[in-house]
Amino acid sequence: MAKELDYYTILGVNRSAAADEIKKAYRQMALKYHPDKNPGDKQAEEMFKEAAEAYEVLGDQEKRQLYDQYGHTGLKGTNFHHFTNAEDIFNAFGNFFGMGDLFGAGGRARRNAPRRGADLRYDIELTLKEAAFGSEKSIEYTLSEPCSTCRGTGAHPDEGIMKCVACAGTGQVTRTQGFFSISTPCSRCHGEGTIIKQPCPNCKGVGHTQTKRELKLKIPAGVDTDSRLRVSGAGDPGYKGGPSGDMYVFITVAEDKIFTRQDDEIICQMPISITQACLGAEITIPTLEGEKTINLHPGTQSGEIYKLEGAGVQHLKGYGRGDQLIQFDVRIPTKLTPRQEEILREFAAISGDEVAMPKKGLFKRLYNK
Ligand SMILES: [Zn+2]
Ligand SMILES: [Zn+2]
Repeated sequence: MAKELDYYTILGVNRSAAADEIKKAYRQMALKYHPDKNPGDKQAEEMFKEAAEAYEVLGDQEKRQLYDQYGHTGLKGTNFHHFTNAEDIFNAFGNFFGMGDLFGAGGRARRNAPRRGADLRYDIELTLKEAAFGSEKSIEYTLSEPCSTCRGTGAHPDEGIMKCVACAGTGQVTRTQGFFSISTPCSRCHGEGTIIKQPCPNCKGVGHTQTKRELKLKIPAGVDTDSRLRVSGAGDPGYKGGPSGDMYVFITVAEDKIFTRQDDEIICQMPISITQACLGAEITIPTLEGEKTINLHPGTQSGEIYKLEGAGVQHLKGYGRGDQLIQFDVRIPTKLTPRQEEILREFAAISGDEVAMPKKGLFKRLYNK
């Protein structure tokens, strides 16, 4: 997963910055690192994307609050946009920000050209069992769909669009300089040939509306934290016949109370008593599929590992499963009844072990006779 930078650091504002300040900082960064100004500069593009991601959170009061309180984890499940390219950023912010104005008549003519819908990100948390055996999950998220009233133009369907007078609807302005005539995209209509006279009443001129969507996910067995699923075409719908974006599902596997996972192996600690360790026993252990009985051999050492083959996590690629390892932990009693102590002392005497003398009472008398 990409490293998670602090959004305030990215925009260079402090944590108490007002909404206006954040907006201004983002505008400045977006201008500075804009791909049109830095063609082919990967680093600038990265900065441009980071700034957009930061602004998407800090520019939204609700998301900002979540982020302030819980950091990046707070944004999980908020249907957080994941930008994959500069074009997505225009799709998400273009109209809102009036990027056309900001970046001049760049000739992108975005409003009329078909374009791909934005990719989306959804974070999901699974239990170890769900990850080990696969699971089906239903997720709900919000899509940005082209407005049905204006079909994404943002203009009032009847009287909303008028031909641009500056370029007579051609989208191009031609100037003659000496022998040359230079055509540049019209700055009034940003090369589109039309301007919006009256915004669409349904989407307030934004061009898209928010719709809830439910998606059934089939999560394969063996996924782990940092696994990603891509659901092709489940992102925002495209505009003007452009293809839909994709949905990226980021997986986190929650820590389990009993097992720790190492790749496809699962490990658990099993406390046993000294008598069980010495004499052997039939003991019950937990597995991913419920309890199971195993035989402890006499003389089991503390730290010794018992391997239950094929009881771990399903391999994501290929057949079979990892193993389950059970590590025994011999527990030494911290308190003994007088009778237990008596027997243990006898055991020590037979074994020839030198042990500490009893401090007082019955045994002191017994041993001193
Ligand atoms: Zn509309
Ligand atoms: Zn024009």
